[in-house]
Amino acid sequence: MSSKKDDLKFDTLAVRAGQVRSSEGEHSEAIFTTSSYVFDSAAAAAARFAGDEPGNIYSRFTNPTVRTFEERLAALEGAEACVATASGMSAILSTCLGLLKTGDHIVSSRSVFGSTTVLFTDYMAKLGIETSFVNLADFSNWESAIRPETRLLFLETPSNPLTEIADISKLAELAHLNGCLLVVDNCFCTPALQQPIRHGADIVVHSATKFLDGQGRCVGGAVLGARDIVGEDVFGFLKTAGPTMSPFNAWVFMKGLETLKLRMQAHSTNALALAQWLEQQDAVKRVYYPGLESHAQHVLAKTQQSGFGGLLSFELKGGKDAGWRLIDATRLVSITANLGDTRTTITHPATTTHNRLTDEQRQQAGIDDGLIRVAVGLEDVEDLKTDLARGMG
Ligand SMILES: *Cc1c(COP(=O)(O)O)cnc(C)c1O
Repeated sequence: MSSKKDDLKFDTLAVRAGQVRSSEGEHSEAIFTTSSYVFDSAAAAAARFAGDEPGNIYSRFTNPTVRTFEERLAALEGAEACVATASGMSAILSTCLGLLKTGDHIVSSRSVFGSTTVLFTDYMAKLGIETSFVNLADFSNWESAIRPETRLLFLETPSNPLTEIADISKLAELAHLNGCLLVVDNCFCTPALQQPIRHGADIVVHSATKFLDGQGRCVGGAVLGARDIVGEDVFGFLKTAGPTMSPFNAWVFMKGLETLKLRMQAHSTNALALAQWLEQQDAVKRVYYPGLESHAQHVLAKTQQSGFGGLLSFELKGGKDAGWRLIDATRLVSITANLGDTRTTITHPATTTHNRLTDEQRQQAGIDDGLIRVAVGLEDVEDLKTDLARGMG
């Protein structure tokens, strides 16, 4: 399979890459639930432990089901190597601990996942690894934050919840000019809509929990990039420290990859229709969605994404009261902070995901009291409009 893989297109790779059929001839991939592997002889065991002979030893290191998921995702992202992890957060942790040492410095977008911020400010800082936070779309801010000891630039694009876009190729160039690696958390677009490595990024991290699964079932993650960086340094940490993905979860995620593009296109179509409708509503002050012509970075989004994704947010004129009223009036959409599910979810960022910020920090971050975030699912968009209109009066 691997010798032919380079010629195959995305849709084919999504359903076929990485599959190794066992002697049973199964059509759907098997789940190998085994913690260890048997050797033919003492000499074979010795050769495998010495690294002289390839093969499985123990499922903290490698597992055939996990490997199929890794190879499939690597093919879709255009990466040489992929390591699957127990969660999205352990993908980011493994990247940091596999590549950084005391005294190193990270420049991160201010608009990243809450736990990522805490990982950097509380836990990396404890190891003497400092982080500077910058505004995602402000290039000069990135430029001036870089120091001689900076090793990683870290971002999510589009950002959550305001859907700001980073210019990946420009930031990759900046990173390389300064001897740094650019890490992109590609959770919101997935490789179906955006392939950061093709735009110059060095490392892609994923929370597979979101759109890769796409149906809200399992927690998992992945790190992708060059063989010597991800395949050795990050994998070296992972197999030693152990935040590995379980074979069952790998199987669920690999099945998710098979329908990923169809789902991402459907999420995008629904989200665009909903965003356009929201722009017409009297109660709505402003809509944030990269697919709208009114979005400040619509043109940039079009150049690096093949679709605009399932995430949008909007500001209500009536502030927090209006926001809570709208959420409480819904009967269909789920009031939950998760995203990337077949089912639409709704949150009020100011009092949930961003509640730890002071009023001033929230204002700086652009999180208005009337802001609502919607992760648009696969329901009929007319039903979603009816549900959101209920509490808009
Ligand atoms: C959810 C999320 C994470 C963390 O992933 P887990 O699987 O919950 O550990 C990281 N980055 C982004 C952008 C996320 O949305």
